[in-house]
Formats: sequence, C-alpha cells, structure tokens
Amino acid sequence: MAVLGRLLRARGSTTISSMASIIRAFSSCSTTNFGNDLKPPSLLAQKPLPLRHDRQDRTIQWVFLGCPGVGKGTYASRLSNLLSVPHIATGDLVREELSSSGPLASQLAEIVNQGKLVSDEIIINLLSKRLEAGEAKGEAGFILDGFPRTIRQAEILEGVMNIDLVINLKLREDALLAKCLGRRICSECGGNYNIACINIKGENGSPGIYMAPLLPPPHCASKLITRSDDTEEVVKERLRVYKEMTQPVEEFYRSRGKLLEFDLPGGIPESWPKLLQALNLEHYDKKSAAA
Ligand code: ADP
Repeated sequence: MAVLGRLLRARGSTTISSMASIIRAFSSCSTTNFGNDLKPPSLLAQKPLPLRHDRQDRTIQWVFLGCPGVGKGTYASRLSNLLSVPHIATGDLVREELSSSGPLASQLAEIVNQGKLVSDEIIINLLSKRLEAGEAKGEAGFILDGFPRTIRQAEILEGVMNIDLVINLKLREDALLAKCLGRRICSECGGNYNIACINIKGENGSPGIYMAPLLPPPHCASKLITRSDDTEEVVKERLRVYKEMTQPVEEFYRSRGKLLEFDLPGGIPESWPKLLQALNLEHYDKKSAAA
C-alpha cells in the first residue's frame, strides 16, 4: 500500500480502487509463456533493448503503439495467438461498454464519435476490470493494444509494471486514412476485414505501398458493419489527437530503450513475416504451424 500511496500522491486523481486493481492483476501475472526456444527481439539494426535475457521463463508484457488504422489489432491478435498470451485492446473494452446499457455508455459514445480520448480514469477502470477478470481465469502476461495513449497512462503503467517491449507500427498517413475508411466488421462473428485496395506510388524517394483488400468470407459478407468513428472527419480528428497525445508516449518508451520501430512494408503477407523476423519469432511461427 505504501507504493500505491506514493503513486496516487504523484499522479493526482486516479482512484485507489482502479490502481489497486491494476496492481493486483499485474503483480499476480505468473511466468510461463516465454519458452526456451523463444528468444527476445533483436531490433535488427536498432540498439538492443534491455530485455531480461537472463530469464527464459518470463511472461510477455508487451505494448502496441501506432496511429488509428495502422493494424495494431491485427498484429497484436496474431502475436497473441502465436504466443498464447491475452490480447487486450482498450478500444474493444470501450466498444463493449458502449454496446452495453451501462451508465457510461452515452457519455462514451459522445467522446468516441468525436474522435477524442476517453479520460484516463475511465480507461484505467475498464482495463483494471478486464485484468481482474483475466486474473480470475488464470491468464498470464498480455499484449496491450491502445494503452497507454497518454503520458499519464504511460507513467501509471510504468509505476506498477515492467513493460519489456513496445512495438511502434508505422504507416504513411494517406494509407492510414484509406485503411480506416475501408474497415468492416462482421456483426455476427466480430471478424475484421478491409475492403480498401491501397496502391500508393512511391515519390520523392519515399517508397510506394500496396495493401490488398482483406475480403470477408461469403457467410460474413452480408453482415458487415462500419465503426461509427470510422468516418473521414472523425478519423482525421483521431489522427490529430494521436499526434498530440500519443506521439509523446513513443518518446517516453524510446528514451527508456523499449521501443521497436516497425515500418509496415505492405499488407499482412509482406508485413507479418518481417515483424516475426524483427521479433526473433520466425522459428517459433514455423514450429507452431507444424504442430
Ligand atoms: P484507433 O483505431 O483509433 O486506434 P481504438 O479502437 O484503439 O481506436 O479506440 C477507439 C476509441 O476508444 C478511441 O478513439 C478513444 O476514444 C477510446 N480509447 C481507446 N483506448 C484509449 C485509451 N488508452 N485512452 C483514452 N481513450 C481510449
């Protein structure tokens, strides 16, 4: 409780119960998921991260950063399946709350549909509840997607947790906008698809990019919906808010030597193998595919 008291004094109005929940949930994560043949990321040409190379049985505690539409959910979910750790997306937690008839729903709808960020207190409460539910099921480790999104969230997380890797996905802005506008979700199974075909020619020395559409299977095709915040006006506002509030979080982790910068070279077929390579996981992927 002394640590908690210090954190609360340093960080202002975060409620004791939300922080306590986070601390309980985080501190109870056991160490099982990082197998002997799973090496820490190399970061390729970048400065090596100060990961805990000495421990081979550590839990994965990773964060995905990146602009709206970059594909955080897609790659975090793939890694979560590969490594058997939960993928926790705060955007999904917000949308679950929105679709409930809970007391927060109408307040959240207004914020999300304007492309603004939900308050740190609300998001930490939602995350805390999700972590507690996972803890009760015996979950260990996590891949966070969409959190932290402000310096204050990053500081709170850093105060209670040792995040060992932050993957910063990057894509040019015109492709981000097209990807958000092309995003479709199956209202029945929740599958994520994209009807946009992105084919941007390279110019002035910057490379072009091709991303094929990710079309739904026939049984989902008639059930597709669009997120209410994926309109052009709201996406542009979310990109602006990202630059203002979340880009400083990149520097927060860069300065701590935890940031892996990853420029997406194209769609999933080109990007997934390269991401695995950057994470030293390509061998692991082949083994799990063969199993
Ligand atoms: P995006 O595609 O913009 O990355 P997400 O699905 O991650 O969107 O989040 C959807 C919305 O949920 C955000 O625009 C924001 O209103 C809210 N949200 C999600 N995570 C956070 C967070 N960590 N802090 C504040 N608001 C959040």
